[in-house]
Amino acid sequence: CGIVGYVGSRPALQIVLDGLRRLEYRGYDSAGIAVIDDSVILTEKKAGKLANLEKALVERAGDGISVGSTAIGHTRWATHGGPTDRNAHPHLSADGRVAVIHNGIIENFARLRAEIEATGVEFVSDTDTECAAHMLAAEMRALRAAGAEEGPQLLAEGMRRVVRRLEGAFTLLAIDVDVPDAVVAARRNSPLVVGRGDGENFLASDVSAFIEHTREAVELGQDQVVLITPAGIEITDFAGAPATGKEFHIDWDA
Ligand code: GLU
Repeated sequence: CGIVGYVGSRPALQIVLDGLRRLEYRGYDSAGIAVIDDSVILTEKKAGKLANLEKALVERAGDGISVGSTAIGHTRWATHGGPTDRNAHPHLSADGRVAVIHNGIIENFARLRAEIEATGVEFVSDTDTECAAHMLAAEMRALRAAGAEEGPQLLAEGMRRVVRRLEGAFTLLAIDVDVPDAVVAARRNSPLVVGRGDGENFLASDVSAFIEHTREAVELGQDQVVLITPAGIEITDFAGAPATGKEFHIDWDA
């Protein structure tokens, strides 16, 4: 339902939580975040209000609230699988190296899930979304095994390979623990905007999520993939050809 991503040099967790709060008006049944922290992806997700998620994060603060500067966050409106903690996003790959959030519906998820289960992967949720996490992890492993160069481009290529196999409506955001300074996103039949910052960039389903940080935005076109790093924004189509979104300046008050 609501989607937020951040990459930069500031602690990402609070920025993403604030962004989710700005999207609360859309309605949702669960919320969750994932942040890259010292070579691991930390996730927290809870059914119910954002306050439940914040409470869970505070309870964990004994270990210190993460100051990682790459994070994604989601508010869910369940379509596949009940509104439980387990079904809340983000969804992790089985090895915990990749995290994905998703708005929309992956129509061919049942077939994809059967294919993935046949490789021995066990699903831990009832969502259509979880298959995208396992697929991305598998593509990243395959790219690395083939000797592809490490870095943000690898994550963009992994996402392109996944979305080419998906049917339906989706905005997907993903992070990979071995690509620590990047968030990749893709969209088809579901909204996605980029916020252009200075040494930091934002992704969201709606500009209100990042309007307090930047007023320079790019609306993604249909069937595009966008890679954000602290240094920049790169857009391609699903095949990998360079593409452009619609640049605009937000001149209204949110
Ligand atoms: N289909 C996904 C799910 O049920 C995403 C729902 C949404 O757009 O929030 O988990």
